[in-house]
Amino acid sequence: VPHTKFIVVTGGVLSGLGKGVASASLGRLLSQYKVVPVKLDGYLNVDPGTMNPIEHGEVFVLDDGGEVDMDFGHYERFLGITCKFDWNLTMGKVFDAIRKKERRGDYLGQTVQYIPHVVDHIKEHILATAKTEHADVVLIEVGGTIGDMENELYVEACRQLKKAVGHENVVYVHLTYIPVPSGVHEQKSKPTQQSVSLLRERGIQPDIIIGRCKERLSDKIKKKIAIFCDVDEDAVITGEDTDNVYKIPGLFHDEGITKILERKLGIPISPPLAKWHALLTRKPEKAINIAICGKYTKLEDSYASVVEALKHAAMHEGAQIKLHWIETTDVEQGKRTAHDAISGMHGVIVPGGFGARGAEGKIDVIRLCRERKIPYLGLCYGLQLAVIEYARDVKGLANANSTEIDPNTPHPVIDLLPDQHDITEKGATMRLGGHDVRIKKGTKAHAMFGDTARLRFRHRYEVVPSYVPKLADGTLVFSGTNKSGEIMQILELAGHPFFMATQAHPELTSSLDRPSPFFHEFVKAALGKG
Ligand code: GLN
Repeated sequence: VPHTKFIVVTGGVLSGLGKGVASASLGRLLSQYKVVPVKLDGYLNVDPGTMNPIEHGEVFVLDDGGEVDMDFGHYERFLGITCKFDWNLTMGKVFDAIRKKERRGDYLGQTVQYIPHVVDHIKEHILATAKTEHADVVLIEVGGTIGDMENELYVEACRQLKKAVGHENVVYVHLTYIPVPSGVHEQKSKPTQQSVSLLRERGIQPDIIIGRCKERLSDKIKKKIAIFCDVDEDAVITGEDTDNVYKIPGLFHDEGITKILERKLGIPISPPLAKWHALLTRKPEKAINIAICGKYTKLEDSYASVVEALKHAAMHEGAQIKLHWIETTDVEQGKRTAHDAISGMHGVIVPGGFGARGAEGKIDVIRLCRERKIPYLGLCYGLQLAVIEYARDVKGLANANSTEIDPNTPHPVIDLLPDQHDITEKGATMRLGGHDVRIKKGTKAHAMFGDTARLRFRHRYEVVPSYVPKLADGTLVFSGTNKSGEIMQILELAGHPFFMATQAHPELTSSLDRPSPFFHEFVKAALGKG
């Protein structure tokens, strides 16, 4: 590619249409090139790390330690790349930078304004990223829905982009919604027309329109949208609802989007569709029930990567996963028993979490998994709670706990990491990002990873080193530590078909191309193949 190409993806009509997955799918089609995704978020938080996952979905953690929008999970999984914190711009970051520049005197004599200064900053950030990354294609996803006040400056920066890099190097993609109202049974284009008109008011003429719909768009509606929105007829693409997001690149390709991208970008494209095809067309042989225990179960997006990682493993094993969300506050409050909550389950996951609420319910569930030999996978908090359970019930350390849950516990088996004690600020202060994990020979973890594994972390607490000799009794084995051997990162139980937990978040580094061994072995065990 002689020139970096820019694809700008905006959303219209309503949120929740899967703009992140659509962008990632475009990226996958183009993945023979160096594609760099950039996400523009309108909120004033510096990053989503301080936001409640119920409100904003999962916080994704990058190898470089950046806490970013969950769409980066889609980008990494679809593109097989390692993204950077810098690629997620937020208005919090933008204003931070502008304020610093102003105090430094960069704008001396000038009135600092939204236009040109803030918009220029956004534009320069995108261009600088393209340059430092030597990107062939920069895939820009504008957060929110067109017309949102908080994203206007991003939209303006993206409009100006075509002047900065040449209009032949920019393609604007607009994702909208095509309703089929009940009673009318007809695909409706009006919301798309109105949303494109909002986009054009802002000086952006879309090149490609993707209409999210529960069915294939008819030729009739494609023609209508093409005429009213002034796009080529073959550039109106169906974004058909699907039960499996990994089908979307193929669906887009079948709708002809690759051809259009070739034409608009002026580059040849050969999408890697064959790679997923075999997995996508395989008929699942067996269904298994998997329970995910948490307190954010009301919003499945809070555990998006966990769900994806399970899918990856299941697709490789020809299994169909039936997910059961277990609200452990219900177990704790006696609304249902742990026994009832996990009866019929072939495997149980306790994912990451914070705070006391629901923790005792999770511990009850973990005890049953250990005693009844039900496959168990603990992720981060799921390791800490497994240690507490073992300390109490096997080691007789009554009321053992984490100081996060009970600061006055007589046996603080889980406590703050030593370098966390003096930290008072909340933003980006956990132990974050990718770390090499040293793995003990002769363990299950070693069979899965070999001598080292690179895993991602997001925690403040750890297994207290002075308790480790007491806990590691040969049945409980700490099979992975950090490089210096002080921080326990993986545990497993001998004599159990599958009981593993990790202080890391292996769900963040799983993809359909390379499922996480933790999830893969867990699913195998749940299938009885252990
Ligand atoms: N709350 C625990 C800690 O801070 C676990 C964090 C997590 O599960 N991500 O260590």
